[in-house]
Amino acid sequence: MAVCLNHTDTEAVTRCAACGKPLCAACVAVRDGGDYCSEQCHARGKQAAAQSDAVIGAKASTEKSKKIRLLIILFIIIAAVAAGAMYYKQNKKEIDSKTNAAVRQVKATAAKTEKAVSQEAGAVKQKLNTKSKYKREREALVK
Ligand SMILES: [Zn+2]
Ligand SMILES: [Zn+2]
Repeated sequence: MAVCLNHTDTEAVTRCAACGKPLCAACVAVRDGGDYCSEQCHARGKQAAAQSDAVIGAKASTEKSKKIRLLIILFIIIAAVAAGAMYYKQNKKEIDSKTNAAVRQVKATAAKTEKAVSQEAGAVKQKLNTKSKYKREREALVK
């Protein structure tokens, strides 16, 4: 360690935390976290510390807000997925009921059509029978 700048015959025991000047124990004016040669250096050191604290704090809060933002985004994604799933479920139910209704309608229409067709077919058959009966009777008369 160098000698004290004020007392060149005394070995320095520390350095000013602000200006870096070597100091003997008698020359330390302020002890506050570090050793300072004067009040001015103490004030300067405090300011620097406060600034670096502020920088560190700002960095930390930026990191924190980044994390919070990430969490919010994650939450939004989860909420969106959940809402989407729920919406899909509800929609599916609706679609299913609509589809079932449509199927029922188609089935009912098909049954009606089938009935109508079979009735029509029956009528046609009867007509044909009548015609052929008439034809047979005519033929029988001719003979
Ligand atoms: Zn100093
Ligand atoms: Zn000294």
